[in-house]
Amino acid sequence: MPLLQTVVEEIATEMRSRLDRGEVASYIPELARANPAAFGLEVIDADGEVALGGDAETAFSIQSVSKVFTFTLALGMVGERLWKRVGREPSGSPFNSIVQLERERGIPRNPFINAGAIAVTDVILSGHQPREALGEILRFLRFLADDPDIHIDKAVAASEQRTGFRNIALANYMKSYGVLDNPVEHTLGVYFHHCAIAMSCRQLAMAGRFLAHGGRNPSTGLSVVPPGRARRINAVMLTCGHYDGSGEFAYRVGLPGKSGVGGGILAIAPGRASIAAWSPGLDASGNSHLGRIALEALTKRMGWSIFGP
Ligand code: GLU
Repeated sequence: MPLLQTVVEEIATEMRSRLDRGEVASYIPELARANPAAFGLEVIDADGEVALGGDAETAFSIQSVSKVFTFTLALGMVGERLWKRVGREPSGSPFNSIVQLERERGIPRNPFINAGAIAVTDVILSGHQPREALGEILRFLRFLADDPDIHIDKAVAASEQRTGFRNIALANYMKSYGVLDNPVEHTLGVYFHHCAIAMSCRQLAMAGRFLAHGGRNPSTGLSVVPPGRARRINAVMLTCGHYDGSGEFAYRVGLPGKSGVGGGILAIAPGRASIAAWSPGLDASGNSHLGRIALEALTKRMGWSIFGP
C-alpha cells in the first residue's frame, strides 16, 4: 500500500474516534441535519493517484467552498476589473459581518467573505438570467470534477433563502452603494443556490486539481486558467479562505484552503496534491473542526506545508 494511502487511512481512523467534533451549523436549518459523526478525506496527487479515507464518497453541502469556483469564473469573465468590486485583504471579521462593509463604503474585503462572494456572483450574473448563471457554475464544476452527477441540493437552497436575512441585508447594503448591478433577489438567488451545491470529497478534490498544478489538470493536460491566475487564487485562499480563522489555518496547516459551513475544506498543496476534507462540526470561526485537525496531521506527516517541513 502506498505511503499516502496509509497516512490518509490512519488520519481518518484517528478522526473518527475523536470526541471533540465542533458544532454542526444550524443557522441554515437544513444543514443541522448533517451527521456530526461523519468524516471524509481525499487526496489526489500529481500523477492522479487517489488516497481516500472515511466518508470521502458521501456528498455534503459545499457552501462557501463554491466561492473558489465562482471567484475563478468571475476572474475569467472580467479579469483584473473584478478588483474594483471587491478587495483581496483578509477580513479579520466573521464571515457574515456587516460592520466592515459600512466602514469601507460597500466594497467587501475579499471574494470569500459572504459580502464579497455575493459581489462576485453579481459579476457572473450580469448579462444572464439567474438560471443561466447557475447553469454556468454547475457546468464548470462538472467539467472540473469530470462528473456529470454534481447537483444542487434544493432543500438546502430553499432553507437558506427562507432564513438568509443577514445575506439579504449585506446585499441590499452593497446595492445602496452601487456595488451590485443586478436585482438583489436575482443575485442572492444564484448565491444561495451555488452555496447549496452538494459534492463529495472525491468530487471536490478532483475539481481543485487545476489549482495544485499551475492552472492545468495534469491528467488531461487541459488548461483551466493561466499559471499566474492559479497562483493568485491560491494566494487569496491562503490569506482569506478561512475567514477570521485564516491566520490559524496558515499557522497550523500551511496550505491555501477554503472552508464552508457544511464542514468541507478544499486545500491545495501546490505542485503536489489537491485535498478535500469534510466533517460537519465547526469551530468558533465557522470552519470544520476535525477537517482542520486532519489537514494539519496530513501536511505534517507528508511535509507538505508551503512554509517548509
Ligand atoms: N451559504 C452560507 C452563507 O451565506 C455560506 C457561508 C459559509 O459557508 O461560510 O451563510
